[in-house]
Amino acid sequence: MAAIKYKEKCVRCRKNWVITSWRSRGQLCYDCQKEELKGKIADPEMKKFFNIPEQLYKDNGFLRNIKIAYLRYGNLTEKQMEAFKKAVVKMKEDAKNPPPEPKMDWP
Ligand SMILES: [Zn+2]
Repeated sequence: MAAIKYKEKCVRCRKNWVITSWRSRGQLCYDCQKEELKGKIADPEMKKFFNIPEQLYKDNGFLRNIKIAYLRYGNLTEKQMEAFKKAVVKMKEDAKNPPPEPKMDWP
């Protein structure tokens, strides 16, 4: 099942566009969530878990929401962790954006 991606204006600043595949409306943009993302993570395991390139947080509101949820509540459900990991893997793959296979030139 493909995730539905949509683009909408950030509900707080009404300035930046937000692209999200998460099924909730009202996603805030990176600029608006930046401060919330700065919280301290004490658990070394979780620190590692959230230690992904900042660009991924910029590009993906879902990842931001998960991190903020963790900072707020101090834990994540297994499902949230799975979804986070999957999203990171997918984004890294997309970033590589492999060019189409070159046509083999047989001698
Ligand atoms: Zn905003």
